[in-house]
Amino acid sequence: MNSTTDIQPILDRAFSGERLTAQDCMTLLESSDFVRIGLAADEIRKRFHPEGIVTYIIDRNINYTNVCNVVCTFCAFYRRPGHAETYVRTHDEIRQKIDETIALGGTGVLMQGGLHPDFGIEWYEDLLRTLHAEYPNFQLHCFSPPEIHNIHLISGLPYETIMARLKEAGLYSLPGGGGEILDDEVRKRVSTKCTTDEWLDVMRAVHQVGLRSTATMMFGIGDSVVHRVRHLERIRNLQDETGGFTAFIPWTFQRENTALGRRIKEEPTGIDYLKMLSVSRLFLDNIEHFQSSWLTQGLKLGQVALRFGADDMGSIMIEENVVSAAGAHNFADEKMLRYLIREAGFRPQQRDILYKHVNREQSPDIDAKESAHLGELSVLIAD
Ligand code: SF4
Repeated sequence: MNSTTDIQPILDRAFSGERLTAQDCMTLLESSDFVRIGLAADEIRKRFHPEGIVTYIIDRNINYTNVCNVVCTFCAFYRRPGHAETYVRTHDEIRQKIDETIALGGTGVLMQGGLHPDFGIEWYEDLLRTLHAEYPNFQLHCFSPPEIHNIHLISGLPYETIMARLKEAGLYSLPGGGGEILDDEVRKRVSTKCTTDEWLDVMRAVHQVGLRSTATMMFGIGDSVVHRVRHLERIRNLQDETGGFTAFIPWTFQRENTALGRRIKEEPTGIDYLKMLSVSRLFLDNIEHFQSSWLTQGLKLGQVALRFGADDMGSIMIEENVVSAAGAHNFADEKMLRYLIREAGFRPQQRDILYKHVNREQSPDIDAKESAHLGELSVLIAD
């Protein structure tokens, strides 16, 4: 870390609306002055969202299968085809999970799975059609770029055709998972799934058919600052081209139960996370929303992230199986997220997957009850 370089001229350029260069990004990531960078990111966040609101979503991660045909050394979730612990969720099981989500005021699901060697496009179309017919207003935010690339390999269809067909079957938007670090120097060392260009090409096709998506970053998998800067540049360039990303969500590698975790000696710290988030907010000047990853960083650091560039607290995560398999065991319900947002100085607001505000009839009750729950909640915030 370089604590001597004066970063103020870079921050001043960001304040004046000038686009930061890759070198600026590198300098900020190498600086130890993370509080000053965080204050700058908070200021830019305020310009995007002057109304003092922090949003959250009520949804659920459904992992429809853990069968996976590739190897990612950072993953503790997958099981190879034929393994005794493999599963594929039935439509009935998925329906039950959706019903539970709706009962909690949820507006959608994030559905992702392993790369199943037998699932061509028809399997995904059938699933989407069935769910969309039964839950026409429920948002199906499904299938990250590696899954779309897997459909491409099995069905032999171009990405754009796949995306058009999935959209027609009821797909609402795409999660940005599987990005990890968008640089093949890193990707090839830790995974056999899609390359950087393939991930970006899928996202280009998603946006070309008129769907929106998020973009993510998982760092701390043997990447250097140079790789992280390249990742951000690639996201910014594609956003310039398509404008299809709604949000950027960085988080750190969760190492428990993973082959990579046994090899990597140092993991990113809380300060590394906050700095990455802040620098992303400053560098990605064409993305509106930045999500706090309380699930991986813990609720307290997740709350602090709201003053380091994030304007969204993510999901209440009724269910999550992938990062929890790798050691992230944080939990929150709606009341707790609202409490944390309020205590950070913002007004909590439920949103849907495209960041439109959702006002439920029972929301005022939640607000009225919030103060009565503070004692109970402060006990629950255990991490
Ligand atoms: S991260 Fe996804 S693609 Fe990689 S092994 Fe795990 S389930 Fe498979």
